[in-house]
Amino acid sequence: MLRARCGSGPAECRETAKPQSRTSGEGSGDETRECACRGEDTAGAAVYDYMEGEMVRNPFGDRLSRLRGLMEEQELDAFFVSVPENRYYVSGYEAEDHHSTETSGYVLVTASDQYLLTDFRYEEEAKRESPGFRLVIYSQGPGAVLRDVFTEAGCRRIGFEGHHLVFKTFREVEEALKAVSPSGVLEPFENLVEQLRVVKDAFEVERIRTSLALAERVLEDIWETIRPGVKEKEIAWEIERLIRERGGDGISFPSIVAAGANGALPHAVPTDREIEGGEAVTVDMGAKLDRYCSDITRTKMPDNPHPRLLEIYRIVREAQLAAQDAVRAGMNSMAVDAVARDLISGAGYGDRFGHGLGHGVGLAVHEPPGLRKSNGTVLKENMIVTIEPGVYLPEFGGVRLENMVRVTGSGCEVLNTADLFYKR
Ligand code: ZN
Ligand code: ZN
Repeated sequence: MLRARCGSGPAECRETAKPQSRTSGEGSGDETRECACRGEDTAGAAVYDYMEGEMVRNPFGDRLSRLRGLMEEQELDAFFVSVPENRYYVSGYEAEDHHSTETSGYVLVTASDQYLLTDFRYEEEAKRESPGFRLVIYSQGPGAVLRDVFTEAGCRRIGFEGHHLVFKTFREVEEALKAVSPSGVLEPFENLVEQLRVVKDAFEVERIRTSLALAERVLEDIWETIRPGVKEKEIAWEIERLIRERGGDGISFPSIVAAGANGALPHAVPTDREIEGGEAVTVDMGAKLDRYCSDITRTKMPDNPHPRLLEIYRIVREAQLAAQDAVRAGMNSMAVDAVARDLISGAGYGDRFGHGLGHGVGLAVHEPPGLRKSNGTVLKENMIVTIEPGVYLPEFGGVRLENMVRVTGSGCEVLNTADLFYKR
């Protein structure tokens, strides 16, 4: 069984680092190393962070309360979090997953407690970053330790992230639950924690703004190097190099650099092909800084663009400006998409704009809410979304222009400060 809380504060607690052997059902040697005093009282209240010199309260306690509200609505005893961004969002635990099949841990939230399950490699990091969580260390997957946690917490109905949890781990969780509660149920959810992430707090807005500023300065600085004779891959590497050199955690997604006819592929992969005279080049890139992502696209026009290219550029820019003018809190995301889509369709290119108008950006570069033709969301103040219409003409080329905006009560704030639009 897990240890009961000692009742003292972290400073006085002498049990903090003392390992406790555990008897697991499979004899795996898994153990709990937890300070039981790091419980409900300290979640979200013990750690502070700084924003522009001002101390702000750690947000994790509040986020856990909101998650528990959703769990209650869904009649869940616990929620099992595997998506790295969601894990961080509720716990502050920063470790990333190297691969979809190599996790750095899981968070389990019950009505009155919160657990961080991980393995030896991440133990120290987990202690430091998530002091409000009960740390449970496993050696061969979470199955064995989950039996004890489920027993202690009396879990019967547990939610998990159906769009992410790998089947092998699902089976482990299921077996642990059935061993403890034969009638227990595992319920898949999509976007439960993501729902909480859609509205950004002031701290997040600032981080996203800074991430975008980094990406924009890099794009501005390489802008003149986007010219005939340079390879798409060289530009992509320069973007990545500069983001790293200037303190970014890395790129928020593999950069798209698409010259000429490649511009007709919305998700083109940079090639060894050299840019030729007269070609437009679409660059879609972003930085990750302090965990937050940015996303920007510009199409660089050649000196004397083909009339068709010029035509679609103007239409795309007009659609972007119209959508930026329209967007505001209270509006359905489908209606914002329609503003740009109707304009492009009216110009005769509706069938050449095959993707959604935009998406949320935050801890992930693509996250809810989606701005598209279906599955609408009512937009709220402080959602941060992209506005990125495009027109793609097979064998010819394409144009996409992407800004990031913060939704406000009366409209939106365009977060971009770089211009880089074609003016002639
Ligand atoms: Zn983009
Ligand atoms: Zn985007």
